[in-house]
Amino acid sequence: MEEEEGEEYLFKIVIIGDSAVGKSNLLSRYARNEFNLHSKATIGVEFQTQSMDINGKEVKAQIWDTAGQERFRAVTSAYYRGAVGALIVYDISRRTTFESVQRWLDELNTHSDTTVARMLVGNKCDLENIRDVTVEEGKALAESEGLFFMETSALDATNVKTAFEIVIKEIYNNVS
Ligand code: GDP
Ligand code: MG
Repeated sequence: MEEEEGEEYLFKIVIIGDSAVGKSNLLSRYARNEFNLHSKATIGVEFQTQSMDINGKEVKAQIWDTAGQERFRAVTSAYYRGAVGALIVYDISRRTTFESVQRWLDELNTHSDTTVARMLVGNKCDLENIRDVTVEEGKALAESEGLFFMETSALDATNVKTAFEIVIKEIYNNVS
């Protein structure tokens, strides 16, 4: 891709997955280095923007978070529109959230008309003592669906930055 000087990259990334898997905290950890034990769905804030440098170019990720509407299975098509990256999140301590991943992938597919860089995220890996989904199961699902995979903890910050940055770099590779 030819590049004009000063050209900017702005990538829309969506975070999806069942309620309470840690989507909002993954975003606040990445964008603000904050974690909230009793987080309520943030009303009114649709996305946060975070920049990173790739090969000397400033790349901006506009990362969208649900306002809790996933509880009602009512994430709208506007949420997905224009997304070129997605984090599909489950909670390693709750198997039902892992079992929902396929449904979220299907919904993402239905709503996207371009290549979407996708990362399967097993969040809350700090909860090893009550683990309900093995690392191998996460890896196997990711492999069979062609997704990147990472276990993260928004609580202790394990792999959070890495997970977002892998997605952003993949998007960059897809478009450049
Ligand atoms: P969302 O509904 O997917 O946006 O989930 P939230 O980010 O609101 O998190 C739901 C609950 O899980 C909150 O009580 C968080 O404090 C907690 N939580 C989020 N991420 C983690 C994590 O990595 N580890 C642990 N132990 N708890 C987490
Ligand atoms: Mg949330």
